[in-house]
Amino acid sequence: MPLKLYNTLTRKKEVFKPSKKDKIGIYGCGPTVYWYQHIGNMRRYIFEDILIRTLLFNQYKIKHIINITDVGHLTSDADEGEDKMVKAIKREGLPLTKDSMLKIAKKYEKVFKEDLEKLNILKPDAWPHATEYVKEMIELIKIMEKKGFAYETKSAVYFDVSKFKDYGKLARLKLEGLKAGARVKIDEEKRNPQDFVLWFKRIGKHANHLMQWDSPWGKGFPGWHIECSAMSIKYLGEQFDIHTGGIDHISVHHTNEIAQTESATEKSPWVKFWVHSNHLTLKEGKMSKSGENILILSDLEKKGFTPMEFRYLCFGTHYRKKLVFDMKKMEASQQTYQRLKNIISEIKDDKEINKKYLKEFERVMDDDLNTPQALQVLWKLIRDDKAKGKLQTIKKMDRIFGLKLLEKKKIKIPKEVQKLVDEREKVRKDRDWKKADDLRDKIRKLGFIVEDTGKGIKIGEINNEKTMSQ
Ligand code: AMP
Ligand code: ZN
Repeated sequence: MPLKLYNTLTRKKEVFKPSKKDKIGIYGCGPTVYWYQHIGNMRRYIFEDILIRTLLFNQYKIKHIINITDVGHLTSDADEGEDKMVKAIKREGLPLTKDSMLKIAKKYEKVFKEDLEKLNILKPDAWPHATEYVKEMIELIKIMEKKGFAYETKSAVYFDVSKFKDYGKLARLKLEGLKAGARVKIDEEKRNPQDFVLWFKRIGKHANHLMQWDSPWGKGFPGWHIECSAMSIKYLGEQFDIHTGGIDHISVHHTNEIAQTESATEKSPWVKFWVHSNHLTLKEGKMSKSGENILILSDLEKKGFTPMEFRYLCFGTHYRKKLVFDMKKMEASQQTYQRLKNIISEIKDDKEINKKYLKEFERVMDDDLNTPQALQVLWKLIRDDKAKGKLQTIKKMDRIFGLKLLEKKKIKIPKEVQKLVDEREKVRKDRDWKKADDLRDKIRKLGFIVEDTGKGIKIGEINNEKTMSQ
């Protein structure tokens, strides 16, 4: 079965046909590094990782780019409010300097990348930073201005949405339906209410912005959307195959990215497939950095959950569906994942591949990355007593799952547990079975279990008990 992906542009599941055989270009909108990326953001990158791994599984060669936004993203996606980076400097009580801005960006980019690694997310081919490509952004704005798509005002350079006939095609917006003030505040300088900023001038509320570059329109800094157009052209050329992001990007950010790029290059479509992932929310609503309700990966780790258990949880919901997160689900995911690993650790390798199950797995993954069904196939294989080739097939499936299913778990045994285990060994040699049982209970109370196997003692954690004693 060929790979099918849901394309936001056509609102259909379509067979994925790359434009070039040799390399597929994929661009994912990355984080604004002014704060921790929460587990909602992580769900979005886990989705992207599944997409990448499925393409690789299908033998495609890819060039994958994720950008880092370190300038220009204001608190509202629609050019309003303070720069998010400035907001972060104030939050952290640092002096309002360019150095502080770079320090903040570095700090949160580091944590972001560490979290991706913990989640076993494959690294992209490049991580371009917005601040490194301002020259390219200026060049692109100059082209738009020359072609009549951009206009200069007292405080900024704007994109004129009325000049781009396809404006809003991704989000299916109708310009005439968007009244002034409905989505964007009325601004006297703008020709149309939906016009967006390409370049902010060093004037008015942005007079003291910390990052300033020279440009044909005087000193200033770029708008948020232009970075993705400039950097994707730089790395992937003027047209490429897949662009990803969260669903919140459809109506503003990606709509504006398309307007900029297609008007500048006069090539359409800029991107063939737009693939968007739905949000992770809490019962109380969306998890957003502007709100107080964020949970980050290390919060989960502090509560005793591993990144792989969170990754497993994400797979239980299709990427296009909302995932309502709660701790009960996290606990269930922990138990199931650990049970799965324990069962797998007991499977003998017969060096065969089970073609029937592998085919079924490929079929559901190629059907718009259906991870919930893929997990069902995995469990069906595990429970099938007659199935051959279990281990090698699971190994293949895990090239997409990336759940480290065959990795042996290193159990850290606390000193006091080891002491009790040694003591129990001694009393067992003396055939004091009563004392040995008492010690086993003590060990159990500390969360561990000892098993006397033919080859010696086996120590497991308590949530592994079920599988160990089987
Ligand atoms: P940001 O740093 O806010 O630009 O977000 C980084 C990425 O995470 C973007 O692609 C967003 O679409 C995505 N995102 C933001 N909030 C959520 C959420 N609650 N659940 C899933 N993805 C999100
Ligand atoms: Zn973007």
